[in-house]
Amino acid sequence: MFFFFAGGVQQQVRQVLKPGAGRCIVCGSKADLVEYEKVVKLFFVPVWRWPGKEPLMHCNNCSLFFPPSISPPPPSSTTLPHLLRCHSCARVVDPEFSFCPFCGSSL
Ligand SMILES: [Zn+2]
Ligand SMILES: [Zn+2]
Repeated sequence: MFFFFAGGVQQQVRQVLKPGAGRCIVCGSKADLVEYEKVVKLFFVPVWRWPGKEPLMHCNNCSLFFPPSISPPPPSSTTLPHLLRCHSCARVVDPEFSFCPFCGSSL
């Protein structure tokens, strides 16, 4: 039997796996994908700690932990850039280009 007296279990960041991987579900600021550990504190002194199983998202702003599965995409969304296809040869070309590098037709 294990009793928690003054204190309790807290989660804290062990290691940042991917900074800015998502967005906080509460305040909307940038959240990191982190490995966390649980710490039992007794009178504010950590007496026991063990690593968490799954990586979690951690908000830098409000220190909230939440599972990555419910995390919205990051604010500066790095979704795949809009792919542009040449209308002439149908190959994917960089949207910056004004001419297709494959067949030379204007885009
Ligand atoms: Zn937050
Ligand atoms: Zn082309």
